[in-house]
Amino acid sequence: MAGTLYLVPTPIGNLGDISRRMVETLSSVDFIAAEDTRVSVKLLNHLDIKKPMVIYHRHNADTSGPAIVQRLLAGESCALVTDAGTPAISDPGEDLVALCAGAEIPVVSIPGPCALITALSVSGLPTGRFTFEGFLPMNKKNRRAHLDALRREERTMLFYEAPHKLAATLADLRETFGGDRRITLCRELTKLHEEVVRTTLDGAVERCAHQSPKGEYVLVLAGCPPVVETPPSLEAGVEKVYVLRGKGISLRDAVKQVSKELGLPRNELYAAAVTYKDSHQSELHDTK
Ligand code: SAM
Repeated sequence: MAGTLYLVPTPIGNLGDISRRMVETLSSVDFIAAEDTRVSVKLLNHLDIKKPMVIYHRHNADTSGPAIVQRLLAGESCALVTDAGTPAISDPGEDLVALCAGAEIPVVSIPGPCALITALSVSGLPTGRFTFEGFLPMNKKNRRAHLDALRREERTMLFYEAPHKLAATLADLRETFGGDRRITLCRELTKLHEEVVRTTLDGAVERCAHQSPKGEYVLVLAGCPPVVETPPSLEAGVEKVYVLRGKGISLRDAVKQVSKELGLPRNELYAAAVTYKDSHQSELHDTK
């Protein structure tokens, strides 16, 4: 029988966020797959856990992934950890989970620290519907295309960003969404210098110009206000009807055409057009 792959989140800055289940899982598995063993060994030492480790990161996933799957199929259990936070969320793991799912290997995700959810919940922006955009592409053309596709996005948007790219990213966001759009800058979450700044894109760009950003950031951007489509009024319909009448089209045909075009009920439009005609006889003498 196949073993289980456990996705084990690790603290994003505060060792107090280590959970009992995380420790139990790391202690009970046969081996640990880590993004960077030098980082994870510090945590394991802190927890007094000694386990065989293998490396699983972006650059060796093609070989390391299938090797881990073979061990799982042979009955061993594995805990996947990354440097910080939840595996598979802008971190290695997505492909390994897919491989395991394909091979019908059980995968258990242990809930725990994740920068995006921590940021969203503290942002003060709507949380009911949101979209996680991860890191924006570095390539200029792809980045522009990515941002353009978000122009009409109504959901709250979340981005991960490195401090040295923050100023450029905020400038691009302002160019795309306008300076008034609300944004929450979540810096160093769960750490000593945790900071949550609720501002606008103008305010955020200004802030970056005065102090160069340090630490890790999640950007939480308000969505676009919904575009309220006002249904066309009967008055607008009647106006169009009499434009067509002026071109010699019969009242019946004009009403038919306009009701189809504007989605207005034909009977109501006809009645309104007749009433209008009756009360504007003198002005409409040439469209009878
Ligand atoms: N898997 C991780 C998770 O669950 O959040 C994310 C890993 S991703 C490679 C690293 C990015 O997450 C950072 O560049 C930053 O945008 C964000 N991040 C991680 N820890 C953070 C923290 N303590 N405060 C703010 N952002 C953080």
